[in-house]
Amino acid sequence: MIYDVIIIGGGVTGCCIARTLSKFDLKIALLEKEADIASGTSKANSGVVHAGFASPREYLKRDMCIRGNKLYNQAVEELNFSFQRIGSFVVALEDGQIKKLEEQRREGTQDGVPGLEVILDKEKIKYMEPNITDEVVGVLHAPTAGIVSPYGMTIALADNAAMNGVKFFRNQKVSKIIHQNYTFTVKTKNKEFKASNVINAAGLYGSKISKMVGLDYFTITPRKGEYILFDRNAMHLNKILFPTPTKISKGILVCPTVSGNTFVGPNAQNITDKKDTSTTEAGLKEILEGGKKLVPNLPVRASIRNFAGLRAVSDNYDFIIDNTDVYGFINVVGILSPGLTSCYAIAERVVEFLELLGVNTKVKDDYNPIRPKPENFKDFTKKELDIKIKEDPTWGRIICRCETIPEKEILNAIHSPVGATTLDGIKFRCRPGMGRCQGGFCRPRLIEILSRELNIPYEEVTKMGEDTNYLIARTKDFRLNTIKGGAEE
Ligand SMILES: Cc1cc2nc3c(=O)[nH]c(=O)nc-3n(C[C@H](O)[C@H](O)[C@H](O)COP(=O)(O)OP(=O)(O)OC[C@H]3O[C@@H](n4cnc5c(N)ncnc54)[C@H](O)[C@@H]3O)c2cc1C
Repeated sequence: MIYDVIIIGGGVTGCCIARTLSKFDLKIALLEKEADIASGTSKANSGVVHAGFASPREYLKRDMCIRGNKLYNQAVEELNFSFQRIGSFVVALEDGQIKKLEEQRREGTQDGVPGLEVILDKEKIKYMEPNITDEVVGVLHAPTAGIVSPYGMTIALADNAAMNGVKFFRNQKVSKIIHQNYTFTVKTKNKEFKASNVINAAGLYGSKISKMVGLDYFTITPRKGEYILFDRNAMHLNKILFPTPTKISKGILVCPTVSGNTFVGPNAQNITDKKDTSTTEAGLKEILEGGKKLVPNLPVRASIRNFAGLRAVSDNYDFIIDNTDVYGFINVVGILSPGLTSCYAIAERVVEFLELLGVNTKVKDDYNPIRPKPENFKDFTKKELDIKIKEDPTWGRIICRCETIPEKEILNAIHSPVGATTLDGIKFRCRPGMGRCQGGFCRPRLIEILSRELNIPYEEVTKMGEDTNYLIARTKDFRLNTIKGGAEE
């Protein structure tokens, strides 16, 4: 079969393009090298839906961000992912910084960012965000900024795309592309796919994929950003807090998540290894110091996790969204921040390119834009729960005690359209392991459930795909083999 479109990369960019194209009568496949979607940059970032005034005016990413932010309302309504428009503050700590806030307000307003306001009344600022430092002299308030679960949204996009016919192929690392007679042959280790059009949304590996069709006109450098996440009960922030930006960075922010945690980060460090998501003592110290300038009482002792994400930085720090000279090959790369905010606008641009290539973009009759909200134990009243548990006892079997996740939610995550096949896959879909104990108690039960539902041995259950198995053998077999092995030597 020849697909109309193959998308390479199952991050938020690829999944949003897939979902947007799924409304048309097209044969579409998405190829992802990892065991799950949202395994790259899209799972480890700040999760801020930016208002859109922060990037320089000449950058494409500024336009995409402003438009993308506006498209969130409809997306949330249709896809039912967690999103809260809580607003952000850019915080001035010296009088000299107010000029920068005024400039951002003026230019942002001219470019269509609604509601921007510079607030100098300290009492009002403190009322709106009681945790903010006493050193604050003013803030730029952007009421349209919000917070989103980045992986939650990516999964929702993928599920809805799959519901509308997009085929998802995971564990498929693209290694070669041949372009002949207006048809692309896309090769992975064990499969071959054919398509008339290919969209390169491979994030950090975008230049590698582009070179496969002879297009070598940009590089992608990984830029690491480290984070510290605090326990949900430790602090409640109302607003996303940014420092006044410098020429090179938006700076270290302090921010709530949609699940009620607070985090501090990220810093920015150019690195060479595209797999290096380690955190360092120096990096964590840097972000804590940065965060404390905005929120002095950061709950340092309630830190539950450190992590890092890698920005895919192109040569000119901007998005590259190109209908290239190779007919039918579209590059959507260099999607650094605010890529999460911009994804819906980026997908619109891709549709425009496909129209230029003659692809049929008539909406099909049976397109269903709704991805139902996954049922959630915490949303039910006691009475509703009693009925649910009577109908299906797995609603009453709590697997993750920190986050109160019953077995039923885990089963739903495994059997959703682009279902979880790994422990991380379950965690990102319904949160077991994201609480205070970080999976210490529920992991063995999750391994049992995955093994049973996927019909695979315990030893084949992985954290996140190849070479991340938790168990190597049954204890008795292992001991016997070891003793036997030893005796033979
Ligand atoms: C520290 C940090 C903070 C950020 N904060 C924000 C924020 O607050 N707001 C915001 O709007 N944006 C933010 N961003 C940016 C945002 O996270 C990215 O723009 C977005 O996640 C990029 O998504 P993507 O799909 O392009 O890339 P990825 O998510 O990296 O997806 C690319 C996918 O391609 C796959 N792939 C690669 N090579 C191959 C291959 N050969 N074959 C098959 N598949 C392949 C990868 O495995 C990966 O899953 C932040 C980024 C970072 C790092």
